[in-house]
Amino acid sequence: MKLFYYLGKREPDYRTLMHLQKDFMLEGIKIPVSRLVIAEQTHSKEVHICREIDCGAGIGKKPQIPLADGLITNIPYQYLLIRTADCYPILLMDSRRNVVAGLHCGREGTQKNIVGEAIRKMKSHFYCQLTDIIAIVGAGICHKHYEVSQELFDDFNRALRKMGLEPDLTQNRHLNLRKILNAQLIKEGIPEINIENVTDCTFESSNYHSYRREKTKNRQINIVGILYG
Ligand SMILES: [Zn+2]
Repeated sequence: MKLFYYLGKREPDYRTLMHLQKDFMLEGIKIPVSRLVIAEQTHSKEVHICREIDCGAGIGKKPQIPLADGLITNIPYQYLLIRTADCYPILLMDSRRNVVAGLHCGREGTQKNIVGEAIRKMKSHFYCQLTDIIAIVGAGICHKHYEVSQELFDDFNRALRKMGLEPDLTQNRHLNLRKILNAQLIKEGIPEINIENVTDCTFESSNYHSYRREKTKNRQINIVGILYG
C-alpha cells in the first residue's frame, strides 16, 4: 500500500471540479470523481469514518457527508477531499495501519479541537499508534492577516485554556490557527518530528484562493487516499 496526498493551490479548483464532475489527474494519479468523498464542512468537530458506500458523496445527486468536517478511511482508492480557502487543511497518515484522514480546520473546528477528535478515532477504530501518524498542516491564513472581533478572540482563548493550551496573545484579536493546530497535534501525542507545515499564507499568496482577500466561493482541493503498490 502507498499513501497519496495532495495539497491544493488555485488549480484544479473546487468550483470547476463541481461543474465538470469529471475524473481528473493529480501528480500522475487518476482521481475518479466516483471515488471522492466530500463532507458538508459545517465548522463542526464531526469526524466521519468512511465506508465503501460513501464513495461519490458530494458528487452528482449524492449528498455530502452531513455535518462532518473530518473524514477517515482505510479503504484503498477512496479519496477524501477537503476544501479550503483561508481555513487550514490537515492530512493525517498512518502508513503502518494504512489509515488516512483529512480535516477542515477553521476557527470553530480548532476551537472545538477537531484534531483531537480525529486522532482519537484513528486510535480507537483503527488501532493507529501515535508515533506512526504523520501530520501535514497545509496553507491557511496567517496570524497577521486573521483579525477577529474581541468577543470571538476571547471565546477562542477561553476554549483553548479549557483544553489545557496556552493562547497566543502576541497580537490582540489576531488568531494564530497554525500555532494552535500544531500545539493540538503535539498535545494528542503526535511526535513533533512527524509534523510538517506548508507555511504559505493564503491571504498573502496569489497561488491560493483566499476567502478574506477575494470573498471567493472557490476553494483549494486537498486530497488524501490509499493506493496499492
Ligand atoms: Zn498572511
